[in-house]
Amino acid sequence: MGYQSILVVEDEQKILRLLEIELEFEGYQVTKAADGLDAFERYRSQKWDLILLDVMLPGISGIELLRRIRAHDQQTPVLLLTAKNSVEDKVSGLDLGANDYITKPFQIEELLARIRAALRIHNRDMGQEENSEWIIVDDLKLNEKSREIYRGEESIELTPREFDLLLYLLKNKRQVLNREQILEGVWGFDFYGDTNVVDVYIRYVRKKIDLPNKSPLIHTIRGVGYVLRESK
Ligand code: CA
Repeated sequence: MGYQSILVVEDEQKILRLLEIELEFEGYQVTKAADGLDAFERYRSQKWDLILLDVMLPGISGIELLRRIRAHDQQTPVLLLTAKNSVEDKVSGLDLGANDYITKPFQIEELLARIRAALRIHNRDMGQEENSEWIIVDDLKLNEKSREIYRGEESIELTPREFDLLLYLLKNKRQVLNREQILEGVWGFDFYGDTNVVDVYIRYVRKKIDLPNKSPLIHTIRGVGYVLRESK
């Protein structure tokens, strides 16, 4: 599946670990770096969907690291973690091309929302360049490239895992899928857990897609699994 990769740069191990757990739970692929030099090497080693960068780092600072990153590419979204009182860091960070910043201490939900927003804007820009296509069922449409989703006129926001689930259902539209198939298709072979997670995530996606004023698209097939199709 299309995991989105995030490089997390932070020298405080507790925060680094927390970020790793939270982001992986949301379905991102996380790589950690605890200092600026290591981070820059990792940055150079592959393409990232987003970089989460703490400003206060030993060795080269987050601001200097940002400067080096932006010398290479202007595209990769960079989110800064800044100290509460450091207006200077925020200003120079934004001047240097950071996409957004969040001040410490942060609420994880807010950080996740900022990450989703940065990725969405980035993907939309990229998507426009690539003239991408939409998958459409009824008035639901999803763009795999830009990761935009609409039900009618309404824009819908899903977490990466929810997105992967909806994408899988859409790619297999009008086919009844059992839980094992969905688990394998969305979570992959290496997921050790029970299939209840499928029901849980179906519920999350349903809540966001099958709005009360709309005809439902995700249908439960009793004793079998689920199917995404137009209501008859
Ligand atoms: Ca730090």
